[in-house]
Amino acid sequence: MHEPHSAHFRYSLLLREIIRLHEEPDVASVGLLLVRLEELDIINERLGYLAGDKVLEDYAGRVEAVARDQDRTFEINGACYALLIRNPEHNDHVLLAAQKILRSAEEPTMIGGEKAWVKVRIGLSLCSETGTPAEDLLRQAEFALRAARESNEPFVQFSGVLEDTQRVKKFSHFDIEHALDNGQLEVFYQPKINLQDGAITGAEALIRWQHPKTGMIRPDEFLSGIESTRGLRSLARFVLNASLRQAAEWSKHKPGFSISVNLSPNNLDDPDLLEIVQSALRVWDCPRENLTLEITENAFTKDSGFCMTTLKNLQSMGINVSIDDFGTGYSSLSYLKDLPADEVKIDRSLIKGVAHSERDTKIVAAMIQLAQAVNLRVVAEGIEDEETVEILLEHGCDAGQGYHFSTPLSAAEFEERLYAECATNEPESV
Ligand code: C2E
Ligand code: MG
Ligand code: MG
Repeated sequence: MHEPHSAHFRYSLLLREIIRLHEEPDVASVGLLLVRLEELDIINERLGYLAGDKVLEDYAGRVEAVARDQDRTFEINGACYALLIRNPEHNDHVLLAAQKILRSAEEPTMIGGEKAWVKVRIGLSLCSETGTPAEDLLRQAEFALRAARESNEPFVQFSGVLEDTQRVKKFSHFDIEHALDNGQLEVFYQPKINLQDGAITGAEALIRWQHPKTGMIRPDEFLSGIESTRGLRSLARFVLNASLRQAAEWSKHKPGFSISVNLSPNNLDDPDLLEIVQSALRVWDCPRENLTLEITENAFTKDSGFCMTTLKNLQSMGINVSIDDFGTGYSSLSYLKDLPADEVKIDRSLIKGVAHSERDTKIVAAMIQLAQAVNLRVVAEGIEDEETVEILLEHGCDAGQGYHFSTPLSAAEFEERLYAECATNEPESV
């Protein structure tokens, strides 16, 4: 297990071994376990790199201990091992091997007098006599391992159903770049309404992906796949430019028209973000105070100094910062007073209950009061009926969005609605 091969070479060794097994006449099935050690960096940090190496060596032995003579083990890279099971008697055999490894992981590795534990995640795949190509067996085990890591399960076995449900997570920045190059991404606009007089004050830009095969894909379905990739940067650049171009046009009819653009928390870690925002504002000649950047509450609670600095810089440039999905995080409300923010958007899940539950109304009323006490503008999202509007108005909520007013609209539909509203409000000429 300890030959000094590159990770790539070890994958090719593993693939070659799977193919060899497939070709043996007495081999009816092959099982593959990918065993990954998590949080090794904590051990490296706390106990030193030599300790990390000792844990790796220890686990190589633990995986090997589960293998029978006819099975093979491989070290794939620094933190991942493969166990190839030859002719498992049945599916349970593969599951049992995974359970044995997990049980052995309950014992710490002793380093000096210290106990070191690592978290282990396992992905399993199995091919029977129908014959799965070697590449597929490995891909499926990798897929199951990723699912285990994402769902925080000790192990996951690959199944076709799993692949279907996880399909949406498979989008990568390649897909986004391709979609952008082929004009498949389009920005929709949901009106933002002044609750006092029902007038449109601006819009929130919401991305839509018109996929040629699967039809329209909503952002929640593909954003998770491109988090922490360059795709997020391309998306932010695209949405900012498309929506500021529209806002510049619309503000000619509606002075002060404000546009809100969503950013993912990871956009805030991008050192190029400020330049992207500034250049879009410059190109479309949009006043900074007409742009609001919406960032989900979780980003504010994430302990990242860089993220906070970015927000402060944006705010000091005169751009508005909005805390989106407010009320869904777990943080104490006292953090509000120190945040570089101008607006909160109370999450739909809280607004939904306002018309039916006194308790929900009280919570929302308290949130409005608290936010306004620290000079934050309050927007309610997901308003679906008039009763909710009345209650929110009673409690002093500033603005709102939701299907009650309008669903998100294409640029052309939004424009039609905005211009119609502007026309009715124009003083009649004499
Ligand atoms: P969000 O920013 O909180 O946007 C509100 C979501 O609620 C939108 O979903 C909107 O269509 C939906 N919505 C609005 N009013 C109602 C209502 O009355 N009832 C119900 N049930 N839903 C309503 P959408 O467009 O699918 O966007 C989901 C999330 O994806 C957004 O949540 C935002 O976090 C993210 N997102 C959208 N566009 C972008 C983008 O351009 N960039 C980034 N990074 N994230 C985006
Ligand atoms: Mg938003
Ligand atoms: Mg929201």
